[in-house]
Amino acid sequence: MKFISLLVTLNLIFSAECNKYPIVINTWGFSSATAKAWEIIQKTDRTAIDAIVDGCAICEREQCDGTVGFGGSPDEKSDVALDALIIDGKTMNIGAVGSMRNIKNAIGVARHVLENTQHTFLVGDGATEFAVQMGFKNESLTTQQSNDMWKQWKSNRCQPNFWTNVQPDSTRFCGPYEPTMANSVYGNMGNNEFNSQNHDTIGMIAIDSDGNIAAGTSTNGARFKIPGRVGDSPIPGSGAYAVNGVGAAAATGDGDVMMRFLPSFVAIENLRNGKTPKKAAQLAIERIREFHPKFFGGIVVMNHNGEYAAACNGMDKFPFSIGSKDVGIRVEYVPCT
Ligand code: ASP
Repeated sequence: MKFISLLVTLNLIFSAECNKYPIVINTWGFSSATAKAWEIIQKTDRTAIDAIVDGCAICEREQCDGTVGFGGSPDEKSDVALDALIIDGKTMNIGAVGSMRNIKNAIGVARHVLENTQHTFLVGDGATEFAVQMGFKNESLTTQQSNDMWKQWKSNRCQPNFWTNVQPDSTRFCGPYEPTMANSVYGNMGNNEFNSQNHDTIGMIAIDSDGNIAAGTSTNGARFKIPGRVGDSPIPGSGAYAVNGVGAAAATGDGDVMMRFLPSFVAIENLRNGKTPKKAAQLAIERIREFHPKFFGGIVVMNHNGEYAAACNGMDKFPFSIGSKDVGIRVEYVPCT
């Protein structure tokens, strides 16, 4: 009997040492968000959800890279609209908002969708009205900087933009446009390329000290998007995904392309099938690359033990930020091969 209980104790110690959590990881070098999430997740009474919501909120406040939160990425009408997502991998309850105007703390609203409704995803004016009911302040998200950016775009004949196969020729003129045949004289395939300057998302994944896994995202999307556009970031399985006992993933990049391949879901399914985080990340990226060899994007993936990796395409290297006992707060880079 004594021998058996010794074995159980040894086994517990061994598994505790193998598990590298609590841990938080987020896309890009947004390490102030990582630091906040890491501070929260070390408290035994706070959860992975708390860490992600509070960590991403830092980026919303600090306008990380100008691509998260207010004042960045104006749309064609100079408005700023936010997308955000939160996933509880313990319950598989999810809250998301898309194309939401006039509310700064998008991930906070996503959490209310998760906690205070039976819905999963609210968009547009409905999301703003819901947020106000939940106590959020209704305020403009535009700034001098976003207005200047928009004015410059407008005076540059609305270039670049996201229109294809319309007239007048969208590669040379502003709208309003009307549809035309793909191969007509006006047909064109659009000219808006994603690069490291015109978009980004904070996508964060975390495991708390109870082993519960969560994932979330927040972004102001793509610069000069067509009003009403929702990107990949708030879409479960695309922008992020998390399942207790399996792992979590979060993606960033050309959302209009990436959402067609659900890279975060693909990565989690690969983990479920026994792949390492590195292989799972690479396979998710490869699925997209098959159709879009030059697409711009990256993904971070972590298994339920807290082992993590990243993969990317269309840039030299992809930075991501980690908070853990092993590394403290550290930005790592993965080369895109
Ligand atoms: N995926 C985001 C979007 O398309 C942008 C980004 O993460 O870079 O809205």
